Amino acid sequence: MNSIAIKGGKVYADGFLIEANVLVEDGKIKTITKEDIKADITLNAEGRLVLPGAIDVHAHINDPMYLYREDFESASKAAIMGGMTTFIEMPLVKDIDDESSFRERKEMGEKASYIDFGIHAGFMREKNYKKIEELSNLGLTTFKVFTCRPFRALDEHIIRMLEASRKTGSMLLFHAEDEAILDYFFEKYAERKDQLCVHDARPPEAEALAVDKVATYAKLTGGKAHIVHLSSRLGVEAILRAKKSGVDITSETCPHYLIFTKKDAERLGPYLKMAPSLKGEKDNLALWEALEKGYVEMVTTDHAPGTKEEKNIGYSDPWKAWGGIPGVATMFPILFTFGYLKGFISLSSLVKVVSTNPAKRFGIKGKGVIAVGYDADIIVVDPQKEIKFDGSNVYKVGWSPYDGMNLKGFPEHVVAGGEIALQDYQFVKKNRGRFIYQKPA
Ligand SMILES: [Zn+2]
Repeated sequence: MNSIAIKGGKVYADGFLIEANVLVEDGKIKTITKEDIKADITLNAEGRLVLPGAIDVHAHINDPMYLYREDFESASKAAIMGGMTTFIEMPLVKDIDDESSFRERKEMGEKASYIDFGIHAGFMREKNYKKIEELSNLGLTTFKVFTCRPFRALDEHIIRMLEASRKTGSMLLFHAEDEAILDYFFEKYAERKDQLCVHDARPPEAEALAVDKVATYAKLTGGKAHIVHLSSRLGVEAILRAKKSGVDITSETCPHYLIFTKKDAERLGPYLKMAPSLKGEKDNLALWEALEKGYVEMVTTDHAPGTKEEKNIGYSDPWKAWGGIPGVATMFPILFTFGYLKGFISLSSLVKVVSTNPAKRFGIKGKGVIAVGYDADIIVVDPQKEIKFDGSNVYKVGWSPYDGMNLKGFPEHVVAGGEIALQDYQFVKKNRGRFIYQKPA
């Protein structure tokens, strides 16, 4: 493996930006120094930010049934373009809940992913809720659970899985929306065909109620909970209530809940259909504030692309459109442009929410910061460089809801696992990434 010198940049290390050179050797960060360094390859980082690569702990990448939408190879290339150097595969439809489904997904990743990757188990529900311990023994320590459709787990099973999470040191990841509220509104709005019906049917109260419930169960059992894709101000308030009462709970939000509202859904129609749905401007603001203050610890993509055909069905009937959007290539640039450059979050918070915090909470060893001995997952960003995003040549599905947006924060160079993965904004073919085990903290 070639050694790499990243020279002359402003390096974010130990909570500060320092002018330093970074030497990468054998996949690790060897030195961070003001002294001159020599290596097989030199990357000029003058005037650039040198930051830890982004980590996305919530991406639906490679469902064996849906490889026409995305796979480990295509998704990891798109991720690299957007400064992401690690992602964790979340099941989409096919369950990962036994040894063979786990091995199958792991092997697919090892064959095709250009960045390091992990795997979540799921979806845990009636048929497999007793398997937390057995799956933990395989090294699967994070379990996706729905409190609502389409993979709803019953309350009496959720509380027992939280108990098992305490015993095994694993963590449950909740899609938190109250099923009764969804059921009521799906029926009530069934005849509506306007583009907002699918958003109105998932009110923020559904999220808050489900978070309150999960938090209560976690408190009573001592289990470890993480709420995925938090989308609302009411959701943030529920998280705060839980934290104040001592529950072991963290959460994530996604770029789309930070910058889009229902108004954008009127404009982009089915291309902004996802679950949970989009809310309002107050919700955007509450989520930015929660990220800056550390109440919501991280940002993920919930990357779940559908094809244009699967989206276009929604123009005549929004209920039938695929719910999900691509996002691995834009998570970092969106946060850089709309969060950091607009002053909603500091650079320090930006690094925390995309890198340091997910590495800590999910126990992704050797990642999340630029420090000696850590994995060499590093991005070099020219803060001035603006790129008009075009998903047509980035994603297999050929579109993104951010198409046409002028974004800053796309990396000029990316080092992933100690190898160059992107140079001068161009993908560089490298060795495949490694499978990583997690150990939730
Ligand atoms: Zn998801």
